[in-house]
Amino acid sequence: MAALFADAASAQPAYRYSVNLENVQDDQLQVELACPPVQQPAISFYMPRIVPGTYMNSNFGKYVRQLRAYTAAGDTLPVQRVNDNEWRISNATALSRISYRVEDTWDATIDNMVYPMCGTSFEAGKNFVLNTCGVFGYLEGMKKVPFELSFTRPAGFYAATALRPVQTRTGFDMFRCTTADELYDSPIMFSVPDTATVQVGPTEVLVAVYAPGKMVNAKFVAANMQKILQGTREYLKGKLPVDRYAFIFYFNSEQPALQVQGAWEHSYSSFYSLQEMPQEMAIGGWRDMAAHEFFHIVSPLNTSSREVKEFNFNETVLSKHLWLYEGSTEYDAQHMQVWTGLKKPAEFLDDLAGKIRFSRQYFIDSLPFTELSKESAGKWHEQYPNVYLKGAAISACLDLYLLHLSQGRYSLQDLKHDLGVRYGKDKYFLDDELFTEIEKLTYPEIRQFLETYVAGPTPIPYEKYLAMGGVQYLPEKTIQSLGLGGVSIKPGKDDLMWVSTENINQFGKQMGFRDGDQLISINGRNTLSSNFGEEYERFMSQLKEGDLVEVWVWRKEGKKKKQKVKLSAKAFPADKKVFHQLEFMPAPTAAQVKVRNAWLGNYQPDVLLPVIDSADVATVEATVAALYQVISGPAGPRNWSRFRQLFHPSAMMASFTPAKELRRFTPEEYIQRNGSMFMQYSFEEKELGRRVQQFGNIAQVFTSYAFTAGMPQPLKMRGINSIELIRENGRWWIMSITWDQETPEQPIPEKYIGF
Ligand SMILES: [Zn+2]
Repeated sequence: MAALFADAASAQPAYRYSVNLENVQDDQLQVELACPPVQQPAISFYMPRIVPGTYMNSNFGKYVRQLRAYTAAGDTLPVQRVNDNEWRISNATALSRISYRVEDTWDATIDNMVYPMCGTSFEAGKNFVLNTCGVFGYLEGMKKVPFELSFTRPAGFYAATALRPVQTRTGFDMFRCTTADELYDSPIMFSVPDTATVQVGPTEVLVAVYAPGKMVNAKFVAANMQKILQGTREYLKGKLPVDRYAFIFYFNSEQPALQVQGAWEHSYSSFYSLQEMPQEMAIGGWRDMAAHEFFHIVSPLNTSSREVKEFNFNETVLSKHLWLYEGSTEYDAQHMQVWTGLKKPAEFLDDLAGKIRFSRQYFIDSLPFTELSKESAGKWHEQYPNVYLKGAAISACLDLYLLHLSQGRYSLQDLKHDLGVRYGKDKYFLDDELFTEIEKLTYPEIRQFLETYVAGPTPIPYEKYLAMGGVQYLPEKTIQSLGLGGVSIKPGKDDLMWVSTENINQFGKQMGFRDGDQLISINGRNTLSSNFGEEYERFMSQLKEGDLVEVWVWRKEGKKKKQKVKLSAKAFPADKKVFHQLEFMPAPTAAQVKVRNAWLGNYQPDVLLPVIDSADVATVEATVAALYQVISGPAGPRNWSRFRQLFHPSAMMASFTPAKELRRFTPEEYIQRNGSMFMQYSFEEKELGRRVQQFGNIAQVFTSYAFTAGMPQPLKMRGINSIELIRENGRWWIMSITWDQETPEQPIPEKYIGF
């Protein structure tokens, strides 16, 4: 069957790309394309101008050089460059090959902006970030033709991607994608591997890390991701819409600082370009970011409009519904954490309040959200960050409104689930029909909400919708707090900080601040514009009621020269205005309690599965060595979770008894039958020889063993383990182990001893 498939595959028209990663010159790669047959006299070759999820024109064609088109005989065909991303090829029926050089986007000096998480980086011998949109193009009208990508790579490199290789051998990988959409949906990062796997129900999740500064490793990241993934699964009613997923992390510490740190979502993976930092310090932010990207498997990847599903890579046509794609995704990523008990309700509320505050202070609240969406790569690009702020707040209000109308029985998550059932991966909705569809699934009031606050210019009355869950929204509030007396302090033209007394409070008056004072020092530490933030934070973190606060300022009075003045007072709490606060109402009504409880959930995730040690399953040899190690040792417990991780979920074991009867069992049954024996007696099994046969993703190992079991009369035996392994999702799995013992009539043949 494998042979039939290969024949069928090679006969089918396809783009056959090949790239040699061992051949980087001037930061450029040479790309060779064997084209599918072309039927028209002239055809355009395109690099994407824009890709889904970026909301910005990236113009990947700007990084392509020396594009040539050839006939089968090797003659060149006329090529005319039409614009940044399009090449027109004449006599196209004779087109056989295209070749070009492509430069990486990360350190090219081209005047163009590509987000690093969507771009490319070619660092010979170290790392290749291949967001495929920055390397591969397609022919006009032929987006649905399969793509075959062949990479010659350094022998020790590993391709971190959600794509499954159709061929892998030393120094070579080949992948296939069925369409241009799948191609651009599939980033690949090549480097020396550091990977770990997390199993979330039936979904296999790969975490791949490139961190040249050695501050981050895959095992740590995976362990931290596990709760988020498990929580997401529970949040999505116990079922993830993907059977596999890859988190691909690039941590920068060897290139110039990244312009933007961020992540790009895909159907089966997400790619992260981040500054390398000590992992314990930064993991919280990375985890929130990963939760957001992972939630994109729901929307837009599962539920979206025509603009997303039939994405036009060369014209910028965006959907109106970023509130759903980005806003609700950001909301879900936070809400899931409180709903599953990973975050405290107060933390969740603070985060939501921060989003509302930022949104109202820095963005246009009356800009209809649907218009912002349509124009997010165009005239409203500056307003785009609001999709993560107001977009999430819209979702919070919708969630509460739905729970209110349904008396706690139907949430935004239920709505998104039902939309996913209605549309799913293969169907799209029309932008203009979405509100009607939502009304059919929910209530007329919900449609009214969407028309008024999402499609209309009216700012959301947050107080009304948040109150449904017993949450009070306070646009402005006065609290009692310690500080510098309510004065605002801003940088001036010189490097000094200037005081303004507009909102001065009782403590500020006692200190004696005056408008126009210039700060010299606080409690003996000099303050300049350049270090004020840091010094202020230090001051605030140490300040206690009753402490003497001593501030030196420059003060100019009338025509006199400016003078140093000392201000001081003992600290006491005084009025401070804070804005856009959210608080749980202390005495909510029964209806509010019902909604609030349904909203916040109270879920404790199941016991989590352990994270896999990636080193154990990186190679056939390591897997076999781990197997021997894990069962050997003095009397006592074995690390059975390490043992379990070596086996495929459907693995079998079988052996012959001394009477030569066959016994079959699962790895789990092996543990049950032998666990107590290991507790009682030492057991050492050593490898005497190993023969490995490997082809692509399958391997067969004959490994001769000798064991000693430390019973009162020690038992010594020799024999051969026959192990079948397969490689899937970037790791090796044991599919079966069978063994037979050596006897005088059946000695181990000499050829199976030794290495
Ligand atoms: Zn997003």
